[in-house]
Amino acid sequence: MKIKNPATDTIIAELKEDNISEVNTTLEILRKGQKKWALLQVKERLNCIIKFGDLIQQNKEELAAIMTSETGKPLQQSLNEITGAQNRVDHLKANAEKWLADEILVDAGATHEKIVYEPLGVIANISAWNFPYNVGYNVFLYALVAGNSVLYKPSEYASLTGKQFEKYLYQAGIPQDVFICAIGDGSLGQQLLESDFDGYFFTGSHATGQKIAKTVAPKLVPLQLELGGKDPLFVTDDVPDVQLAAANAAEGAFYNNGQSCCAVERIYVSEIIYDAFVEAFVKEVNSYVQGDPTNLNTFLGPLTREPQIAILEHQISDALEKGAVLKAGGQAIDVAGYYFQPTVLVDCNHDMKVMHEESFGPIIGIQKVKTDEEAIALMQDTKYGLTAAIFTSNEERAMSVLQQMNTGTVYWNCCDRVSPNVPWSGRKNSGLGTTLSSQGIRAFVQPKSYHMRA
Ligand code: NDP
Repeated sequence: MKIKNPATDTIIAELKEDNISEVNTTLEILRKGQKKWALLQVKERLNCIIKFGDLIQQNKEELAAIMTSETGKPLQQSLNEITGAQNRVDHLKANAEKWLADEILVDAGATHEKIVYEPLGVIANISAWNFPYNVGYNVFLYALVAGNSVLYKPSEYASLTGKQFEKYLYQAGIPQDVFICAIGDGSLGQQLLESDFDGYFFTGSHATGQKIAKTVAPKLVPLQLELGGKDPLFVTDDVPDVQLAAANAAEGAFYNNGQSCCAVERIYVSEIIYDAFVEAFVKEVNSYVQGDPTNLNTFLGPLTREPQIAILEHQISDALEKGAVLKAGGQAIDVAGYYFQPTVLVDCNHDMKVMHEESFGPIIGIQKVKTDEEAIALMQDTKYGLTAAIFTSNEERAMSVLQQMNTGTVYWNCCDRVSPNVPWSGRKNSGLGTTLSSQGIRAFVQPKSYHMRA
């Protein structure tokens, strides 16, 4: 597999692809390894994860440079991601033993009852490239702590990083027959679906997720899908500082070049502050430093994948044909690498694709609204259900809007944020199942009910 640097459009490495015909052999290796791994105490497994976290933090400069070289993520954002993902390790350290302990429910009388949480077995983790640490940790760390073995297939756009996970997990004491990183493209992913894993955990697009669901369904094994979104933000007329609201909204839309599953993808603004908000928003976006992602001052690097440029161009021309006004950007930049200007479209409406289809890039549509009811109806006019956000100084108003959102996560005066304390889940086309929090670990175990008479 040839690994390209999206900032320069040049090949920077070659990796040997795993042989598709050997997936079943790999599965058998992992099956044997899992049986021994599951016999360890949770604490022993956890100690390996804690050591892994330490090793990653000790080597984060080198690891950030690797991630930047293959994804184009600005170096500072790569460092932020690696530092931030450690909160999953810390959260497991504090909670995993408690979450995985047997639950004694009745220990008096004739029949004693308890629940034991057993691992699923060998799981397949097919992952995405946009936040490989965050979305990788959400699955494979929790799965390993719970006693599963893992076949991890990174995206072909984050394969070098995937190999680093393998290297440091082994150094931390995870046996080589308990975690294997398999290198390959979508056809390797497809082969995993055709093999008999005990659970499938996928992070990626809705289109691939739907295909996976169809293939895996007859196996009747756990399936989890963390998919895309078209996440709305409503900025009300009572925000105390329009410029600050605009700066926060722009960061939510453009961080990591908009290539975040929970990026702000469409903004509704009260007509009372609309003009002031748009002016401040455009000013903020025009201040972003775009360029070489290895420069620590860069906020916008290249897109990770070249084909996304055509999708963005199509959304922009569709919006302009239907009456949107272009306030910033609008096109790819004519240099080597997949650079796209940060693009702001205003006076948008829901006939436009930019307000319905996931952009996954540095473009945003802004629409004026008259009332909270109108904003709620527009926010809910979507096939997706990942997150929704509101900026307002009025808590009651915020809660009234957020309660009506059919999404897994809602934000008041913040956005584009994930925490290990609370579940991460999508509704509708944004997915199925939950990662993170006490509920996230349940995805990787199956309860066994004991009814016991001495
Ligand atoms: P894709 O769906 O293109 O790919 C995801 C993974 O699936 C990759 O490893 C890919 O391999 C693999 N794959 C592709 N085709 C198949 C197939 N037929 N069978 C099995 N596996 C296959 O998504 P992206 O990597 O482009 O990720 C971006 C998407 O992920 C966005 O929609 C984003 O919103 C979503 N996402 C959701 C998150 C959430 O938590 N809800 C978090 C992060 C991203 P390869 O790349 O090698 O082709």
